Amino acid sequence: MNLMAQGKTRASSEEWRHVLPTNLGLFYGGEWHSPAAGRTLPVLNPANGDVLAHVALADREHVDRAVAAANSAFPAWAALSPLKRSEYVRGIAKRVREAGDELAMLDALDSGNPLKGMLLDIQMGSTIMEYFAGLSTEIKGSTIPMPGGVLNYVLREPLGVVARLVAFNHPLLFAIAKIAAPLIAGNTVVLKPSEHTPLSALRLAELVQDLLPPGVLNILNGDRAAGEALATHPGVASIAVVGSIATGRAVMRAGAETLKRVTLELGGKNALIGYPDADPAKVAAGCVKGMNFDWTAGQSCGSTSRVLVHESIYSEVIEAVSDLVGKIRLGQPTAIETEMGCLSSQAQFEKVTGYIEGAKRDGVQLVAGGGRGRGDLERGYFVEPTVFADVAPDHRIAREEIFGPVLSILKWSDEAALFEAVNSVPYGLTASVWTNDLSTAHRAAARIQAGYIWINGSSSHFLGAPFGGYKQSGLGREESIEELHEFTQLKNVNVTLSP
Ligand code: NAD
Repeated sequence: MNLMAQGKTRASSEEWRHVLPTNLGLFYGGEWHSPAAGRTLPVLNPANGDVLAHVALADREHVDRAVAAANSAFPAWAALSPLKRSEYVRGIAKRVREAGDELAMLDALDSGNPLKGMLLDIQMGSTIMEYFAGLSTEIKGSTIPMPGGVLNYVLREPLGVVARLVAFNHPLLFAIAKIAAPLIAGNTVVLKPSEHTPLSALRLAELVQDLLPPGVLNILNGDRAAGEALATHPGVASIAVVGSIATGRAVMRAGAETLKRVTLELGGKNALIGYPDADPAKVAAGCVKGMNFDWTAGQSCGSTSRVLVHESIYSEVIEAVSDLVGKIRLGQPTAIETEMGCLSSQAQFEKVTGYIEGAKRDGVQLVAGGGRGRGDLERGYFVEPTVFADVAPDHRIAREEIFGPVLSILKWSDEAALFEAVNSVPYGLTASVWTNDLSTAHRAAARIQAGYIWINGSSSHFLGAPFGGYKQSGLGREESIEELHEFTQLKNVNVTLSP
């Protein structure tokens, strides 16, 4: 199917029925299983409220069985040669690429993200899989110098069963990118997609069910209860979450009983800083790109939703940002020409519009957007790209992660006070700095408490560069060899040789 050539523009769920998965159950041990009675969830198209499907929800018993299947598969998977595991993971990436159009359409239907962005997700996710497949022979140990007659070496070994809980904003991208490192390191995986976007992971299971040995990759849809069952399960060695800070805390607490390895990729309230010497037009373009309006309607952990601009270029930046944002057209997520889609659920819609209405009530200056989609978009969770200016540093929209298309702009004049404000939130995921002065740029990078910093850029990720948060934005690093190491443990062997 060539979506570009078809030029589809409608979001009718009937029209897209052929891309839906056939199996809506629980996939573990290489087979499909039915849920317990009554344990299904309606999946809604957030662009119009149509019911797309009813998917199975895992209960504790199914979680037990899936974890048992993953544990049974672990010894043989861990014993494979690294290159053989690479072959399997490359095989998944190949099948995903081949079915890329359908998978992207499925994510557009299920998540409300625009098709163009979801096609990009397929490319990114497959590339990440291929990257980790290429690193399989780099999971190296070391040797320690010892006196004669003694050999001491360190091995990196897999952990066992890794549970991967992921967020709704990049459904298929997370489903593929986040299983690659644990699998390559020799672990088996139980993946739990978000209950808001469960469909593309089911299609993934269908695509690879005959490819991998049974039990190596298990995919369970489920709500918070299924996540909790995995986080407390004694058969799970490591739990890795892409989600909110509240979930990260809950998973750490739940995992403490069995002392699980915990990896957390959590939220952000990321700062973008404009210095006086920066070109206001470039800063404005960086602000808009950094919000990922066109990819996820601003529902990105790395979105630079807190912009701090020096007073000398402040009004020019505001004018240019509102000009650029005013040109972004909302549209049906399934249409290839759509520039920005809708929010993924009613809960997201209520949360985001709650922040917008609250800021309006408080008299914060609205410079763009602030409303919902009009015409045929009224049936869905469409929210205009929204910009507030002159935001007080202590206002909620300057301090809390909204996870939607809302940009807050603040003015600064004193650099010491700037860094105090930038570092005053509990988050520390990304930051973006705009200046033409090298010393200013590096001084800023050194002072910002965040794990991923762009100088004169925003939004982009660089495969191989460790991504992750300072402070409460997370634990561990991903998209790099560090992610592979997160799913290994060290074993030291000391050998006394015979003379
Ligand atoms: P969420 O925390 O509600 O859910 C994430 C996953 O955890 C889902 O699969 C969910 O079912 C599960 N879950 C929820 N509560 C749980 C609990 N108590 N125990 C076990 N599992 C539980 O997050 P979301 O709403 O899907 O996604 C939005 C959040 O994710 C935002 O805060 C965003 O910043 C963050 N995020 C972070 C990154 C990153 O790489 N740092 C990427 C994307 C999203």
